[in-house]
Amino acid sequence: MLTIENLHAAVEGKQILRGLDLHIGAGEVHAIMGPNGAGKSTLASVLIGRDGYDISGSVRFDDQDLLAMSPEERAAAGIFLAFQHPIEIPGVGNMYFMRTALNAIRRARGEEELDGTDFLALAQERMKLVEMDQTFMTRSVNEGFSGGEKKRNEILQMAILEPRLAILDETDSGLDIDALRIVAGGVNALRTPERSILVVTHHRQLLDYIVPDRVHVLTAGRITRSGPKELAAELEERGYAPVPA
Ligand code: ADP
Ligand code: MG
Ligand code: MG
Repeated sequence: MLTIENLHAAVEGKQILRGLDLHIGAGEVHAIMGPNGAGKSTLASVLIGRDGYDISGSVRFDDQDLLAMSPEERAAAGIFLAFQHPIEIPGVGNMYFMRTALNAIRRARGEEELDGTDFLALAQERMKLVEMDQTFMTRSVNEGFSGGEKKRNEILQMAILEPRLAILDETDSGLDIDALRIVAGGVNALRTPERSILVVTHHRQLLDYIVPDRVHVLTAGRITRSGPKELAAELEERGYAPVPA
């Protein structure tokens, strides 16, 4: 579903991604681990189409050239990023925000928009996945939310938008064990044979709950190792440096 070949990305003259290759099949969950500053968040930003990067290489999403698409086209095609640091938007209601995002995607796909009543029903159903109560929908986006509540709100947004490729950038950082379980449970509930998920994490713990099909190490802008889920435990024990032969 997603095939990245020889991806390079620089920002303000600084080369961050240096020939990254990655393939994720439909229905697969892949994890990317790696040291701070390796380029994990940059990869996520490049995939959703954030501007400001000088990019070369190729990214195919289904049969499309992802790099040629606008951020809006990518969202409509089903690419979603849960941010490492979810932003607060004072004065914008959470429900309004999510409905606007969903309807923009539906419009781009030529689907009918959801009115307030239909959206509320959908949101209420999806909130159960992340154990959020309805009061969060009437508050401003993330304003005054705890770290764990912000992350749950990201997963709620993902559950509402139903992406084909969901990227979670360190959604586990700063979560206590209960919040981690809830976030992982929400993600697991959204696993389908069509939906691919890319989990960026520093911690093996999340991967005990969201068991990935494949684990990759991103070091200095490239994927330097890949392996089955057991690789996460090995990395935790031995660190990211390659094991000498
Ligand atoms: P990771 O998510 O793996 O910790 P990032 O992708 O956030 O790493 O960052 C990779 C490197 O690129 C870091 O050294 C970071 O400081 C640098 N970087 C990221 N964004 C910018 C930017 N907008 N301007 C300058 N340097 C940046
Ligand atoms: Mg980081
Ligand atoms: Mg990061």
